[in-house]
Amino acid sequence: MKMPTVKYQSGDMVMGRWPGSNLYYEVKVLGFDSKSSLYTVIYKDGTELELREQDIKSALGFQTRPRSRSRSRSPGRRRSRSRSPGRTTRRSSSRTAAAVAAAAITDGAPSSRRDTRLKDSLEVRLSPLQQTKAAENNSNNQHEKKEEKQKEENNTANTVIEKSEATVEAEPDRNQGRYNLRRRKDDGEGKPVEAKPEQLEEKDAKLAPAASPATPLDFGGKMGAYFWLLFLPAWVLFLVLQVHQEDPSLTNFPPLLPPLEAFWDAQAFGFVILWILFQALLYILPVGKLSEGMPLRSGERLKYRTNGFFAITVSALAVAAAVHQGIDLTYIHSHFLQLAAASLLISVLLSVYLYVRSRYAATEQLALGGSSGNVVYDFFKGHELNPRIKKFDLKFFCEMRPGLIGWCLINFAMALAEMKVQVLDAPSYSMILVNLFQLLYVVDGLWNEEAILTTMDLMHDGFGFMLAFGDLVWVPFTYTLQAYYLVHHPNPLSLPAVASIITLKLVGFYIFRKSNSEKNAFRRNPSDPKLSHLKTIPTATGKSLLVSGWWGVVRHPNYLGDLLMALAWSLPCGFSHLLPWYYMIYFIILLVHRDARDMSECRRKYGSAWDEYCRTVRYRIIPRVY
Ligand code: NDP
Repeated sequence: MKMPTVKYQSGDMVMGRWPGSNLYYEVKVLGFDSKSSLYTVIYKDGTELELREQDIKSALGFQTRPRSRSRSRSPGRRRSRSRSPGRTTRRSSSRTAAAVAAAAITDGAPSSRRDTRLKDSLEVRLSPLQQTKAAENNSNNQHEKKEEKQKEENNTANTVIEKSEATVEAEPDRNQGRYNLRRRKDDGEGKPVEAKPEQLEEKDAKLAPAASPATPLDFGGKMGAYFWLLFLPAWVLFLVLQVHQEDPSLTNFPPLLPPLEAFWDAQAFGFVILWILFQALLYILPVGKLSEGMPLRSGERLKYRTNGFFAITVSALAVAAAVHQGIDLTYIHSHFLQLAAASLLISVLLSVYLYVRSRYAATEQLALGGSSGNVVYDFFKGHELNPRIKKFDLKFFCEMRPGLIGWCLINFAMALAEMKVQVLDAPSYSMILVNLFQLLYVVDGLWNEEAILTTMDLMHDGFGFMLAFGDLVWVPFTYTLQAYYLVHHPNPLSLPAVASIITLKLVGFYIFRKSNSEKNAFRRNPSDPKLSHLKTIPTATGKSLLVSGWWGVVRHPNYLGDLLMALAWSLPCGFSHLLPWYYMIYFIILLVHRDARDMSECRRKYGSAWDEYCRTVRYRIIPRVY
């Protein structure tokens, strides 16, 4: 068998292409995976990525043939250089061309710095950034000047391409104690800001492998993974047993565990399997749109069948037909524990399958955040990013179908159970509100199914136990607790109370929908004329960040809307127990933690541009509060 040739060795300083762009940054080679023929490299801001050989160039390769003076200099550049006192110092530097290449990193803005002892200069292939277009469209904003300047810089950069000359530079990020790549800025007097030689030396020193930060571990790291693996199923079990109590107070001692055989019901297991297969069948039908996901690290864009609305419509018709045929859906209420146990078993089996197959996946198919090398952590967090069986995307399917549509089915069954238990002709107002609110949430999610393709779960998180359990167990069996609670704990509502709760729900829904759609539309087409009024901040990755509109109010306006809706779901259950408020409490914790995860992920991706966004948009979720 022919072994792939290893061109670069561990420890080599080379220039690596930033995925999805034509920009090259200095990276250090950490290793080579012969199976996938991918190099693991680390950028100076600590980002670790896998790159193909063609995306790597030798730092020396950036030194092109010695240029004749006339070819290399534009008068403007010569003038600028001659004024810079910093260069005199650098001339005496004994660093090699490679070291200069190592120091000279940016996203392509031309630098006036130059070591004249080196006959060669760096040549960086630049192409106009996507963000430049966006900047052109969005020039009516407070970042106008910056963007104009950036355009200028890019224009200059393009001129520089013609002249085969571009030098680049890195700036230290003092907050992080690491080096952060960013666009070169001029100081107030139009003089270029230059890194001092000693800063550059310090920077080089920090590239030692020991200092290379890996992608940070979430959820308490490896020990946390053990904890969550045990705690999450135990917590669902506790809630399911608790909600069945006459006094389902969360402060009560947990009810006694039923005998082990009480958890297993072959029929319940069969129903769950049938439900999943039914949803899978609807998913693969060639009905509905094929949507493109966001570009992967490899540059590939996966296609997804976004026919969720079709799936819930057909499911509703099937359920209506079943009820019409006399099938007693209150079975779901009376076998809630067994159905939850069956779903748990399926999610565990699925997670094991996912982990085993991820061991055979190419490196570029793995999730950055779920590749710690620790089996338990990676099993929990999700090792493979987009596991697929042919075109069947397991993560997308589980995220959007059996659990989400199952949630509505269970709520509906609880409404029927309420009528049966309380001998009612129709469900109570509270039950109707909970059912309709949550149905609206799910239907909206499925109607706008494409929007999930730009969320963290789809873009960043691998598919492992965390998501499999969340999708198949957590969502259908804990998000339905309010409806379950109302079966045995009626909470009559006055009409004004109903009206106020509906208003709250609609306000929350409006914020949630508008903000999610705005970001989704922007990510899909930053040059969309409908978004041209929005202000943006360019980033070194080629993507921009919205800094006005909903995303200029707080950093996660969608979470704000979601929280208001969660409040509206709990209010119909009244205040006599904490249990129906469990969702609200859990959701606050989830979204605060999720926000923190996203902040550090974005900080890693966007560096100083993210800091600028955070300085401009100061609050995370609730304006002036948090
Ligand atoms: P978001 O949809 O908020 O996505 C976060 C990503 O958006 C970031 O990683 C970044 O990705 C991009 N982004 C962040 N700020 C900006 C900006 N200013 N301009 C442009 N892009 C930006 O995160 P989630 O996936 O957490 O949430 C999606 C929805 O799902 C939310 O409404 C949330 O409330 C809901 N949700 C509901 C849950 C439930 O159980 N009911 C659970 C979790 C979420 P990039 O730059 O790479 O595009």
